[in-house]
Order: sequence, then structure tokens, then C-alpha cells
Amino acid sequence: MSARMPVVFVSHGAPDALLKAPEAVACWRDIGQTIPRPTAILAISAHWEARQATTSLSGAPKTLHDFSGFEPALHAMQYPAPGAPALAERVVSLLTAAGSAADLHPSRGLDHGVWVPLLSMVPQADVPVTQLSLVRNAGPATHFALGQALTPLREEGVLIVASGSITHNFDWLDWQATGDPTPVPQAKDFADWVAARVTAQDVTALLDYRSSPHGSASHPTEEHVLPFFVALGAADGDRPTRYQPPFSYGGLAMDAYVWRDPADAN
Ligand code: ZN
Repeated sequence: MSARMPVVFVSHGAPDALLKAPEAVACWRDIGQTIPRPTAILAISAHWEARQATTSLSGAPKTLHDFSGFEPALHAMQYPAPGAPALAERVVSLLTAAGSAADLHPSRGLDHGVWVPLLSMVPQADVPVTQLSLVRNAGPATHFALGQALTPLREEGVLIVASGSITHNFDWLDWQATGDPTPVPQAKDFADWVAARVTAQDVTALLDYRSSPHGSASHPTEEHVLPFFVALGAADGDRPTRYQPPFSYGGLAMDAYVWRDPADAN
């Protein structure tokens, strides 16, 4: 029996990760080179929230430069992958069948949470991509359930790529930091706490991450951790691999996870 597609979570870091986080870029490239070629990609990013889970019908999604104050070179970058409207409709039907309200957007493009890592993972931009929104004002359990409902896509050659951040407290960032600064202890502790629970498949503890010692401090707002829960739901108990590029700006954990079917030889 052939393996179902892996599930990927990446911490996309600051918008300038492609210029300033070479180890993260190398990690994303490595992940892209070690997974089977997908038929399409369903991307979930911290940077799109909607009233209900929404996918984009765009046949040629625009590259959204949804940030300011960073290098002009970033604003010139494009990720010209074709869209995946059929996948967008399939996602809505799966979510609806699972009892989740879902909607279609006619034209939404790809925000930087998607195209920044995909430029390294699939640099040819030749795999169709559609983006799925987060659900505004919903927490980890709702997003975990979304991921569970999406699990059948993995049998259909679809790669689920969730993009957020394992820690996301701007008070912990040192924007002057260069290279590989010593991370803020709370950020490192929380990233390691997550890793231990992922390894132990302790979904209950992960869903209640805000009760962990640095959980709520690591995420003053939840949008950057919610994509992780979509991935965790879609992972369906598969074996995880943790990737640990250095922290960005001393406070952004850049951890990535790939969950692979045990039948996947990689
Ligand atoms: Zn972000």
C-alpha cells in the first residue's frame, strides 16, 4: 500500500526570513526535497482569518505582500503557482460533511505565511496551491477538528502545509539581533514543551497549551499557533519529525514538523 502524503507545519518567522534566516530556508528546502511530489497543496497560514473556514477559488493566486517596513527585495518576490479551485471545492465539501461551516472566496491570493516557505519548499512554483483560512475567534479544538476533517486529502496526493509560529511574542524579539542569538529562555522552554508533547502524541496537553508554563506568554494572540493545530489534526497519529532551525530575532522559534505515514520510507 502506498503511503499517504505527509503533513507539514512550518514556523515562517518574520517576513524577511528568506533574506535573514538561512538555516530555516535550508530546512524548508530539505523538507521539500524529501516529501513525495504532491498533486496540489492546501496551505493554511496565520495571516488569513475569516468568519468561517474559507478556501480560495483563484486559478492564479496573487502573491500578497502583506507586510511593511521590510526590504524592497521582499516586495519584488513572486510565487506564481497555479491555483487549485477544484481542491478548494473539495475542502469545502469535506468540512461541510464533517459539520463545519465552510465557504469559498473567489480570488484570495497567497499571503507571506504561504509563499515565503513555499518559495523554498517548491521553488519551481509548479504545484497548484489554494489557501484555507483560519476561523476567527475559534481556538485550538476547532482548528484540530478542521485538520481531522481534511485527513482524506492525504490519500489524494494533497500536501497540507500549515504555516504559523511555535512562539510569537513580539516583546521577546530583539530586532537588532543578527546571526544565531541566544533565545529567550521562555521561548526555548515552550518550543521544547511542544516538541515533547508532539513526540508523546499528547494531543490533550497540546490543545490545552495555554495552561503550560509559557503557553499563553508564547502566544499573546493565538493566530500563529492555530495552523499547528490544523496540522496536528490532519496528522492523524502519524510519526512526527522535528526540525529546529535557530530562533529568529532571539524569540521566534522556527521549529518545523513533518508527520509521515509509517509506510513512507523517508
Ligand atoms: Zn506571521
